Amino acid sequence: MSENSKLTSSFNLFFMKPQTSLLIIGGGILGAATAYYFKRDNPDKEVVVYERNEICSGNTSLAAALLSRVRAYKHVIPLSLETYRVIPELESVTGSTLPVLYNGAIHIASDSKSEKNLENMMSAASEYGIDWDYISEKKSQQLVPWLNCSSASRIAYIPGEAVTDAYLLGTLFANAAKKLGVKFFRNQEALSILISDKRVSGIKTNKSIHEAEITILAAGAWSVEMAFKIGIQLPMAPVRSQYWITQPSSDTFPKNSPSVIIPSAGFYSRPQGDSLLFGLREPNPLAIDARTLPSEINDFIFSYDEGFSDLISSYEKIVPFFPGFGDARIKNYVAGFSCYTPDNQFIAGKVNGIEGLLVLTGCSGAGISIAGGIGLGIACLAANKENPFDFSHYSATRFGPIDPFSKEHIEKCAAARSGKTSG
Ligand SMILES: Cc1cc2nc3c(=O)[nH]c(=O)nc-3n(C[C@H](O)[C@H](O)[C@H](O)COP(=O)(O)OP(=O)(O)OC[C@H]3O[C@@H](n4cnc5c(N)ncnc54)[C@H](O)[C@@H]3O)c2cc1C
Repeated sequence: MSENSKLTSSFNLFFMKPQTSLLIIGGGILGAATAYYFKRDNPDKEVVVYERNEICSGNTSLAAALLSRVRAYKHVIPLSLETYRVIPELESVTGSTLPVLYNGAIHIASDSKSEKNLENMMSAASEYGIDWDYISEKKSQQLVPWLNCSSASRIAYIPGEAVTDAYLLGTLFANAAKKLGVKFFRNQEALSILISDKRVSGIKTNKSIHEAEITILAAGAWSVEMAFKIGIQLPMAPVRSQYWITQPSSDTFPKNSPSVIIPSAGFYSRPQGDSLLFGLREPNPLAIDARTLPSEINDFIFSYDEGFSDLISSYEKIVPFFPGFGDARIKNYVAGFSCYTPDNQFIAGKVNGIEGLLVLTGCSGAGISIAGGIGLGIACLAANKENPFDFSHYSATRFGPIDPFSKEHIEKCAAARSGKTSG
């Protein structure tokens, strides 16, 4: 090779784009969904996902998996509608079937505030063509035998709402992405994000350096610390979500009965086989400094009493609606961390002033139901295409400079979970 051609080839190497177009940190449902959509719509581009444990073994594997479409914020509804739309598409790509139960949902208002919220939610549902109706106390008890709605002022029933298994939905996205050619690096950790002159060029892993045109930080609750190391203060904190599953009783808890959401009692439930899965939005949920998270979520001790003290303190609020609450025998307790922001909105998109990086987190306890829309939207942004969804509420810098590890910020995130009114 002549000196000239040697020079040209090193020049090309220097300016060559990295082979990987999109690198995603985090193989939870949000990382997997993004990988699927990006590869589907950009089949010639290389997409890789780094997951330090097993795919969807983080908080995704713990979710109660209510696929609520009707939510307090209207702009979130289309994100969940996309999840419903994409499930048959993923089944057809993978040849596997996802267990989805279209059991419907009942939302109960019992004071003027929750009634107003319910009216707003139902009017948004109508705008999106979602079928619903106000129902009587008698009808609600026919649908849900354990429920007593005598103190309710409004009861809305949405027959098309569904529940699923969150781990299976997350891995369905991942398996569909794999089928299309996405490479998943399991048990490989992103140690740091490479940044120079406000441009992200990839990551350093526990094995090598991997460069990419675009990097997406979708590492769930662990995103806060990774982002902080490159000067980004993500406005969220890990806040505990917990639920319990009763012993089976097919008469009291029929397997197809609707999910129930009672904001004034901080209570939600769904059927789980012949058992009832129910969760609380307690007034003071456990919220932590993200730097104290272990790398494996199951290593975190959430509660020595399996949330029993929270059950006791919510008892008075729940028992008018669920008179048999005190007699329900508990079979399982599950807890994990959702990433709450002070305003209950997600974090999705570019971070002002930094090129080559997108963030996708701050799921505010809704990451399973919105995975389709938010994954598609972020994949469009990564490909420099028009985003079909409204992400205007999801900017990472919407609160200005914050200290994501301060007590004050963490308390605001915990309060956001307590004040949540939808599924
Ligand atoms: C108890 C509970 C109940 C819930 N119920 C519902 C519900 O009913 N409906 C609903 O929609 N949502 C629900 N959620 C919320 C839902 O689980 C989350 O919104 C969703 O799982 C978030 O997905 P994720 O991909 O952002 O996070 P995760 O699933 O936590 O994935 C992040 C991944 O990143 C990986 N990672 C972290 N750091 C690195 C690194 N440095 N390198 C490589 N990989 C890394 C982690 O190992 C992890 O697998 C619930 C959550 C909990 C805890």
